[in-house]
Amino acid sequence: MTDVYGIIGHPVGHSRSPAMHNRAFAALGIDAIYVPFAVTPDRLEQAVRGIRGLDLRGMNITLPFKTAIIELLDSVEPDARAIGAVNTIVRDGPKLCGTNTDASGLARALAEAGAPLHGSRATVLGAGGAARACVVGLARAGAREITIAARNAAETVALIAELATAAKPALLTCCEWQPAALGVALAATDLLVQATSATLNGGVVAEAFARALPLHCLPQHAVVVDIVYHPLETSVLQAARAQGLKTLDGLGMLLHQAALSFELWIGRAAPLTEMRAALLELG
Ligand code: NDP
Repeated sequence: MTDVYGIIGHPVGHSRSPAMHNRAFAALGIDAIYVPFAVTPDRLEQAVRGIRGLDLRGMNITLPFKTAIIELLDSVEPDARAIGAVNTIVRDGPKLCGTNTDASGLARALAEAGAPLHGSRATVLGAGGAARACVVGLARAGAREITIAARNAAETVALIAELATAAKPALLTCCEWQPAALGVALAATDLLVQATSATLNGGVVAEAFARALPLHCLPQHAVVVDIVYHPLETSVLQAARAQGLKTLDGLGMLLHQAALSFELWIGRAAPLTEMRAALLELG
């Protein structure tokens, strides 16, 4: 019988996960299908009952449900709980267990690109769900110190308080959202991770955001990552590249978070080449 996997979101039509997972199933000859499920926020609870009742084998969760799903599951892995977001549900018999593969997805993408990780000093821009996952991912990958900078100071302080334990032994610090303070932080940064949504879809906001960042303060060995993958070459990556800095786009994190979900569900290494090809075909 064909096993059914899927993703729950609202909207979900734009998701690149079905293409990646269906290509992976085909590549490994696994009799399974991955389906996008559009669920309105008032029907999340019913949808989770559906996962149980229909015996769906594994699920991804995307916006706006990554936090709301937590209380509907039987267990949640500690890092996902600290991040406050679940993006993957794994079955343990009848039980639904939540985890977050965005954090390790970033770490794997950085390792694959040869970015400095162990003992590094990182700066993360943003304090939303993705930024929180990035902080934990960097800490797990061995970053020594992680500075968080976001325009909402209260969110930044809350993030540090909530993630300090999960991020240990990495030291979490915050930086004011103004050019002089950012410049000081960037001067001591090996790895800059842009995790706000400011660069999404390009345009004037993205351009202004990149212009306002004192990227010239980064040391020449620094690597600049933008986890936004639409467009692939964001305004921040363009500005960093113009300065001769090494850059990494958001496709690697997207690929590796999917590969990690796949591996948790199937128990086999994900066919990365085929999954990456499926992603690239989507443009
Ligand atoms: P959220 O909406 O939870 O958070 C967005 C963050 O960006 C907030 O801190 C927000 O600040 C900040 N922000 C938005 N616009 C600006 C701006 N102009 N200047 C400064 N800060 C700004 O989104 P997520 O954290 O879930 O996602 C962020 C991005 O990461 C998304 O665009 C998504 O595409 C990408 N992403 C990529 C993944 C990958 O696998 N590559 C995985 C997950 C996400 P404020 O609160 O003040 O508005």
